[in-house]
This record gives sequence, structure tokens and C-alpha cells, in this order.
Amino acid sequence: MEQVRVRFAPSPTGPLHIGGVRTALYNYLFAKKNKGTFILRIEDTDQSRYTEGAEEYIMDSLRWCGIIVDEGIREGGKFGPYRQSDKKAAFREFADTLINKGDAYYAFDTSEQLEALRRESEKAGNTFIYNFANRGKLNNSVSLKEADWKEKIERGEPYVIRYKMPHNEEIHFNDLIRGQIVVNTSTLDDKVLFKSDGMPTYHLAHIVDDHYMEISHVIRGEEWLPSLPLHLMIYRSFGWEPPLYAHLPLLLKPDGKGKLSKRDGDTMGFPVFPLFWPYGETAKGYREEGYYPDAFVNMLALLGWNPGTEQEIFSMQELIEAFSIERVGKSGSKFDPEKAKWFNHQYLQKKTNNQLSMEFREILRTHGKHEDIVDLESLIGMVKERVSFVKDIWAQTDFFFKTPETYDQEVIKKRWKEDSASLLLELKEELKKIDDFSAGSTEPVIKAWIEKKGYNTGAIMTVFRLVIVGASRGPHMFDIIGWIGKAETLNRIDRGVSIIGK
Ligand code: GLU
Repeated sequence: MEQVRVRFAPSPTGPLHIGGVRTALYNYLFAKKNKGTFILRIEDTDQSRYTEGAEEYIMDSLRWCGIIVDEGIREGGKFGPYRQSDKKAAFREFADTLINKGDAYYAFDTSEQLEALRRESEKAGNTFIYNFANRGKLNNSVSLKEADWKEKIERGEPYVIRYKMPHNEEIHFNDLIRGQIVVNTSTLDDKVLFKSDGMPTYHLAHIVDDHYMEISHVIRGEEWLPSLPLHLMIYRSFGWEPPLYAHLPLLLKPDGKGKLSKRDGDTMGFPVFPLFWPYGETAKGYREEGYYPDAFVNMLALLGWNPGTEQEIFSMQELIEAFSIERVGKSGSKFDPEKAKWFNHQYLQKKTNNQLSMEFREILRTHGKHEDIVDLESLIGMVKERVSFVKDIWAQTDFFFKTPETYDQEVIKKRWKEDSASLLLELKEELKKIDDFSAGSTEPVIKAWIEKKGYNTGAIMTVFRLVIVGASRGPHMFDIIGWIGKAETLNRIDRGVSIIGK
């Protein structure tokens, strides 16, 4: 294969949607798999949609995901500038080339005129298309006499440059995911290539850039597939060899009904952006929700691509080795927020207790607690399997750090019997005799005592848990008391008995 050069080319119009991150990821995996180059190009020619902070957000998101840019604004490279607005004058000359070849023309129709035509067509039940059928009657350099349109330009009348889509030609092309496609040019419109504000549109700018940046493969969202015939026509007009194309299927809402949109994050309760978006209308991010970047990337990689095996857990390196465009599906992938949590759960289990303790210690601080890392490690070991996020550890362990203030009324009603208080006080006397409070030491002694006395283990342990934890939750009882220690254990029994046991 020729040298692989791919690009991720987002428009900085707001936070980068996870669908966009997936596109970046597939480009990256494909580049690295083929020892190629991954380029980040900022497509900001639509000034009306420019959003402050979006460019940095895109770069920071890729960095968080571990997607390393080879050429871009921050990285530099031989094919720059990598921000389209930095070379806007250069695009004009390409629009002129197409005009000179007779493949593009000036159009002077005002937006009011076009709006009126659109409304008229709608009334007649049609969709307005600007193309071979009506361009001869509209306000442009095809319909007007040369002297007239030249005079308009000289007078400074605003105009756009449109592509002159030929009539009734079949365009055959291949998409690496969709296969062979045929489109008749008569169904296409004369798209605007250059706007009256002096900026090229996406259609022109990305083709010029892809060509001069020597892009070998364009891997992008399916929403661009309908524009591909136009893009290939423009390549033909320039006499350039187009790259190969792969259009990625959509990411769908969890119920499969429609595209996963930017709004779904608010309504469905899960983030649709990689990082927190801090400007204007803020939005939640996976990073701030407690996801690990490698779990997030692993989850995204499998939304639309499959390795052809049962394997689900992949490091970035493993993804690079396993990735191929052939295994990207044709149909949309439903986003599954539960599966996203599952991935984080798997990655959390792989972390050492020491790493998790460091992370959890920060959360503990927000609750005004400080614990030694060594103590936290053993605590983490007890609850790790139950959590998917470090921030959930507090809810699983709060009772380790504070004596219960209330006791679960349901448990009291069901399990607190007449003899519960006296049994607990008896248990307390047994515990008092033990010096080594580790589970390995207390458990056999207490079990032997229960057996010797002929007591019911379940009855004792439930109320024991109630006074220690305040409810019927938590890990192994003897691990809990080993961690909180002898004095606190005895104290909690006394307190529980005096509050509940009257
Ligand atoms: N700027 C376009 C977008 O944000 C890029 C499409 C492409 O990759 O060609 O969707």
C-alpha cells in the first residue's frame, strides 16, 4: 500500500461528540496499524458556527484518549497550515480554476430570492434543487450575458461560486465499508463551493486540503456519504486522483431510534462528550464522570467495529494490531450506557489497590477524612469488585469512617428480637478478649463461640452488622471490624444496643 496518511477534520463548533471521537479513533488505529500518519485538521471555514474554546477542547479530548496526533496545529508538520482559516486566500484560486474550466460559475441570487423559490417548490410538493434544470433561469453567470455578470462583479455585488454539476452522468464509486455505489448526477445540486464572505465551503476546502496533504484514506461519518459524488466530481474537474473512502455508520441512541445526538446526554443521563464542556450551556464529560480513558476508548472502539473474536478488552496497542476497516459494520451501533460502565468496571478491577487508594484518597478529602494509603489499600480490596468508579467507593465504605447515626428501620422490624441486645452484649464480651482484631483471628473465635452456645449464626450476624454498619449492606463482617478496630467495634455495639435495644 502507498504511504497511509489519514486525517481527522472536525469543525470547532462546540464540544466534540463521542461519535466524532470514534471517527478520530478509527482514523488513528488505521494509521498506526499501517505505519502511517494521523493528521488533525481544523475545518473552521464556517465562521457563523465558530465556537470559542472548541479547538482546544478537540485537542485536549484526543490527548486524554491517548490518540496521538502526528501532524497538526500543536505538532506542526510539512503540510500546514492545519487550520483552514489560516490560508483562506489560497482557496480562492482553486475556485477560480474551476470557473476557468467551465465547471463552476458565479451566482448572484440573494438568500431572499432562494428562500422564495424554496417556498414555491414546497407549495407544489417538491424540493428546490439548484441544478441543470433551472440554473439557466436563475441569477448567475450561466444565464446572464458575460458583460452583465462581469459588471455585477465589478460593482461589488455579492456572489457565491457554485459547482456546475453535469446533467445525466453516472458516477460509479466504491466505499470501503458500503461497497460499490452508482449515482446519477441529475439528482445532485450545484453546491456552493465559495461563499460571499470570502471563505470556501467545506466541499471545496476539504478537497484541496486532502489533496495537498496527500491524504490516502478518508475515514469519516456516514452523513458525508451523500456528498461523496460531488466530491469525486470536483476531483475529476481538478484532474486529481481522489483518496479511498470509508464512511462510518452512525452511533444510535440506546433504543436504536435515531442518531445519538448532542442533546441525548441531558435527557438520557449519560455523557455524550469525552470531557466536561465548560462554556455557555455546560455539558458532562466521561472524564469527569470517573471513566478511565483506556476504558472509554475500548468501549468506543467496539461501537461499530468487531475483532471477529470474543475478546472485549483491548489496550490501545491491541486495538491497533487488531483493527481493520473490513470489520467495521455497515449498520448503526446502539450506544449502551450500561456497557460503558461495564468497561470501566473491568478496567478498575485491573488497577492495583495502591493506585485506587491514591485516587480514592482525593475523594475522601472532600469528605474531610484522611487515611493512610496502607489502610486504604486493604479497604479497597474489600469493595473493589462492587464498584465501577472510584467515586462510588465512598457510598460503599462511608460506615468505615463514621459511626452510624441511624439504623435501618426495616432491618430492625424484621430482625431485632427480644434477645438481640443481650446477644450483642455477650458477643462484645467475647470480642473484648481478643487482641488481634484481624478477620483471621476474630472469625474462628466468634464462630466457635456461636457453635458452642448453640446460637443462630444468621440472627447474630445480622444484628451485629446493623449496629456496626447501620444497615444490612457491606463486605464481610470480620473484615469490617478488623479495619475499624477493637475500640470502635465495642463502642458501636454499645451505642447500637443503647439506641435500638430498649
Ligand atoms: N469538517 C467536517 C465535519 O466536521 C469533516 C468531514 C470530513 O471528514 O470530511 O464533519
